[in-house]
Amino acid sequence: QGTQVGQVKKLDEPQNLLDKTNIFIFDCDGVIWRGDSVIEGVPETLDYLRALGKRLFFVTNNSTKSRAQYAKKFESLGLNAEPEEIFSSSFAAAAYLEQTKFKETGKKVYVIGEVGIEDELKLVDIPFIGGEADKGKAPNMKKGGFLEHDHDVGAVVVGFDRNINYYKIQFAQLCINENEGCEFIATNTDAVTHLTDAQEWAGNGSMVGAIKGCTGQEPTVVGKPSPLMIDYIVEKYDVSRDEVCMVGDRLDTDVLFGKNNGLASLLVLSGVTTEEKLMSPENKIQPDFYTETIAKFLDSKAE
Ligand code: PLP
Ligand code: CA
Repeated sequence: QGTQVGQVKKLDEPQNLLDKTNIFIFDCDGVIWRGDSVIEGVPETLDYLRALGKRLFFVTNNSTKSRAQYAKKFESLGLNAEPEEIFSSSFAAAAYLEQTKFKETGKKVYVIGEVGIEDELKLVDIPFIGGEADKGKAPNMKKGGFLEHDHDVGAVVVGFDRNINYYKIQFAQLCINENEGCEFIATNTDAVTHLTDAQEWAGNGSMVGAIKGCTGQEPTVVGKPSPLMIDYIVEKYDVSRDEVCMVGDRLDTDVLFGKNNGLASLLVLSGVTTEEKLMSPENKIQPDFYTETIAKFLDSKAE
């Protein structure tokens, strides 16, 4: 099934892995697409896996869009995916607040982030402030250099925000440090991302890091590698973990998500991880298998 390379197996023939996997969970960026371009061979591979009767789910740490917006992205890229198969860290933040019965506190959320988080919070009827509306302005700045925060904020959600600024950090800091019991929730902590295919961009880890830096608090992370999204899928779709393979391009989110949660894991080299990085002695996170891209599964057609 694979050649042993260091502690990992290179997937030579995908047939065995296909035989024991009924459900594939695919990370999106670096596996399905890079930025806005579909990775070569992916549409055919997804169609092939579906023809084999496999169930597919897609799980992204990118919080800028809601699940409905991702469904549109799949469609616009010519990819076949149902909205119920798609999970995003924006959804995970809303699901966490739902599960912990945040609504019963009567408090609101302060959002550092974009429309994806806002749309998911609206779907579960959780009131929020901040987000897109805060674009470039200093909220509640008073005379005399006093920024007034909102005492009814019971949770700060920090997601990727291309309009983050100093005052948003200060507002979040005041809510977390001064409102009793205020939660600090991070959609994800990816260090860098492929916002565009052309280069790596600072990821949400930088925004979460800013809030950690001034509050001294550790966030509750709801995106990968946190178990929230796999627990949700297992429960909602009656899935058994031993029939699932997690496929991702990132070691500290995707592969760890698989390993920490009892799933088989396959690393693909079509995203942020090189073979050199995977094999380096500094890397402590080893997937079960690795291969170039998910199009490798098409090899089993010929076998
Ligand atoms: N967050 C942002 C803002 C991104 O642009 C990306 C990838 O493009 C990610 C997170 C990582 O997404 P994924 O989990 O699909 O690799
Ligand atoms: Ca990825």
